[in-house]
Amino acid sequence: MGMAFADEILHRSRTARVVVVDRRAKPGGHWNSAYRFVTLHQPALYYGVNSEPLGEDERDLVSQAQILAYYERVAKKLERTGRFTFLPKCEVGEDGVIRAIARGGEEIAVRAGKTVDATYMDVRVPSTTPPEYAAEGGATLVPINGLAELERGYGRYVVIGAGKTGIDAALYLLERGVAPDRITWVVPNDAWFLNRDALYPDGLASEFGTQLEILSDATSLTDVLQRLEAAGRLLRLDAKVWPSKYRCATVNEAELAQLRRIGDVERSGRIERIDGPTLHFAERTRHLTERTRHLANRTRHLDETVDEILYVDCTADGLAKRPPRPIWDGDRITLQSISMCQQVMSAAAIAALELALPDDAKKNATFLPVPHPLHPPDFLRCTQTTIRNQERSLGPLGLWAFRSRLSAVHHMGFLGILRFAFRLWRHPVPDDERLAALIEAG
Ligand SMILES: Cc1cc2nc3c(=O)[nH]c(=O)nc-3n(C[C@H](O)[C@H](O)[C@H](O)COP(=O)(O)OP(=O)(O)OC[C@H]3O[C@@H](n4cnc5c(N)ncnc54)[C@H](O)[C@@H]3O)c2cc1C
Repeated sequence: MGMAFADEILHRSRTARVVVVDRRAKPGGHWNSAYRFVTLHQPALYYGVNSEPLGEDERDLVSQAQILAYYERVAKKLERTGRFTFLPKCEVGEDGVIRAIARGGEEIAVRAGKTVDATYMDVRVPSTTPPEYAAEGGATLVPINGLAELERGYGRYVVIGAGKTGIDAALYLLERGVAPDRITWVVPNDAWFLNRDALYPDGLASEFGTQLEILSDATSLTDVLQRLEAAGRLLRLDAKVWPSKYRCATVNEAELAQLRRIGDVERSGRIERIDGPTLHFAERTRHLTERTRHLANRTRHLDETVDEILYVDCTADGLAKRPPRPIWDGDRITLQSISMCQQVMSAAAIAALELALPDDAKKNATFLPVPHPLHPPDFLRCTQTTIRNQERSLGPLGLWAFRSRLSAVHHMGFLGILRFAFRLWRHPVPDDERLAALIEAG
């Protein structure tokens, strides 16, 4: 988000200078600590910074290595403006002071007209976030990153967490040929998934219109979700389990078919403690040994590690729902999403508005934060605020979204935008009363 903001400021202003401070050694934020086999979850089309395309084919889900190389290239490009400095291995303390980590905390003075907090969204990844449960009794627990480092097989793999990281861990194991019956997947809550096949890139042009029509015609929140599912926009792991979460995790239908091969889906809530082969939940204890032994008898070719279990932690809350704050507050800008689950585009849009309007009150009235959705009702509110933010920014930003590669509008094409405008005219954004009625109807 910091890089997307900096890029937009430097390309829209001829005089502004930007210093980006990061405690990591390289630009690229959390991608530096992600698992080696991570890729973007949405096409590269909408990711990175506005001035520079990402990936050879922007429809690709580009890899960690490509993303890190991209941010390095972008940082060099911004440095060539002569108005950009990246301060690696430097930390901003709670007192606002910048300290060089490798120089024992030596203070670095930067005179800033404005401080932009690009850390508020607090993205967490498993390799840098210890789990909230303990693993005792000789249990082997690794963050998802550990899967890429394995030097031998295990009899059973227990994937803990059902967000996008848990999905990636399960898919990685299946792609490496691990039999589905050697995987246990701890799914504390089922979530709705966005269907990548239906949405990207061509479906996006009709997506917002479809959502508006459904929000206008449906009789309840359940009806909204059923209609989105029937339209192929939303997917769920198990047709018999109604998801209680909505977190913008994205899969395609082929990935979902793979995930459905895993029969041992443990839905007993969150793990509180692991003790050797035993999983302790708040209201249940599950012993894994028996199941593993049973498998050992059935599949003779298994090696001597058959009784060993590898626990794979995928529980870090990558996209937490943070309480919204005013984005502009005196000499401070707190970057937040202004478009549902589109953080980097949001950071660039905030930078554009920063330069377009002089008055903080007007800027805050244009862009309201859209906290990450967590539960299905959040989807309704996030959709409403996202579209209203777009509508309100048309005045100050004009054709910005149409010209900016990070914006979905840019990829809708002229006809797509006209069609959307027509559908918006026929089915205006639902007001608070309508949303409350849908939620109340269940
Ligand atoms: C696995 C994964 C896949 C994703 N895929 C997509 C996708 O396909 N499309 C999409 O739009 N979004 C995706 N996202 C969402 C992603 O979180 C955002 O798109 C975006 O990259 C988040 O950027 P950020 O700047 O908020 O966080 P980060 O990338 O974490 O950057 C914050 C930086 O601030 C630094 N920092 C924090 N505190 C301090 C301090 N006090 N002093 C100095 N430095 C500090 C950290 O070191 C970090 O480098 C994905 C997220 C994950 C975890």
